[in-house]
Amino acid sequence: MKDSKKLGIDTICTHVGEVKDEQFKGAISPIYMSTSYAFDGVDTKRYPRYFNTPNQEMLCKKIAALEKTENALIFGSGMAAISTTLLAFLHKGDHIILQQTLYGGTYNFVVEEFDKFGIEYSFTDSLAIEDFEKKIQKNTKVIYIETPSNPLLTITDMKAVSKLAKSKEIVTMIDNTFASPINQTPVDFGIDIMIHSATKYMGGHSDILAGAIAGSNEHILKIWNVAKNLGGSLSDFTVWMLERSLKTMNLRVKKQSKNALKMAKNLATNPDVYHVYYPGLKGHPDYKLAKKQMKNFGGMLSFELQEGIDPMKFQNSLKLIKSSMSLAGVESTLLSPALTSHALLGAEERANQGIKDGLIRFSVGIENTKDLIADIEKAIKKAKK
Ligand SMILES: *Cc1c(COP(=O)(O)O)cnc(C)c1O
Repeated sequence: MKDSKKLGIDTICTHVGEVKDEQFKGAISPIYMSTSYAFDGVDTKRYPRYFNTPNQEMLCKKIAALEKTENALIFGSGMAAISTTLLAFLHKGDHIILQQTLYGGTYNFVVEEFDKFGIEYSFTDSLAIEDFEKKIQKNTKVIYIETPSNPLLTITDMKAVSKLAKSKEIVTMIDNTFASPINQTPVDFGIDIMIHSATKYMGGHSDILAGAIAGSNEHILKIWNVAKNLGGSLSDFTVWMLERSLKTMNLRVKKQSKNALKMAKNLATNPDVYHVYYPGLKGHPDYKLAKKQMKNFGGMLSFELQEGIDPMKFQNSLKLIKSSMSLAGVESTLLSPALTSHALLGAEERANQGIKDGLIRFSVGIENTKDLIADIEKAIKKAKK
């Protein structure tokens, strides 16, 4: 499949990157679990930590086709993908600009590890392009963004960021986890490297831990050179699971996005809900920008309940929607960022990022929305003091 990028999205999901079963002609990819392969000339030394087993290589083709890039790499977790990619581009004395609202793990990696490597970093004061520009130094090598962000669903202007970075020869990276390649292909807006926690929408069933990156051959080679030293490979069984998951990604994410828009609209009219954060609502400050750079607005939203409704009691009273740490599964889940994903940030940094203690992050699944709405309404009733 030479011109895989010309194929429709569902065909890419279903077929690109299949491992052909030459022996038995089975309908799906066989799994090659070998960690030891014949030394095949000088060029191909297959070994799982080199990211080049048959299943690893083929899955990378599917992910590259989805992100419309030349190449891709897959990792043992989203954080392995993020840390390896950042360390590949940042050397001692270099500087990186990161947007203010970031996934908690990424924030922790930067503030806990970069000093050891002598890497300088700045966080922007807001997502306005002037605030990115203000932080540029002579030694700035990377600008790192995340849009929509976790957990407030803020939107960063990808085109403006990439234009600014290109004028200074700065590499741009995006955490594209929340949108997934279904809702957003950042390469269309000039972003260089796309990073995913494949644990989320790519996996989609809350049963895989994995990461992925996509970019040009040159950038992927640069990252691979560090990746083989850091060793964050993904096992071939999980690679196979991920390939299986990706076949339905467009179906899942489309339904999740449709459901999230319905839920956001419903919650916004619920008198017991104080505020809803969802880029697909016309009242969202970045609605127009989101519409410009996203196909759908994604399956994630956040909301705050009115005062007098205990958020913990609310969560514990839900019957259908599970309270859970992770997100993006076909089942709806929710959590309190202040108590879980952003607990390590501390109260001050959370307040700085606008994450209130009563905020609830909602990962909308593929269920019927009438059942989700009923579940929420009943739980609110129980949580009223
Ligand atoms: C979960 C997540 C990560 C980290 O991924 P892991 O697979 O848990 O290592 C990074 N970014 C975002 C936006 C996430 O939601």
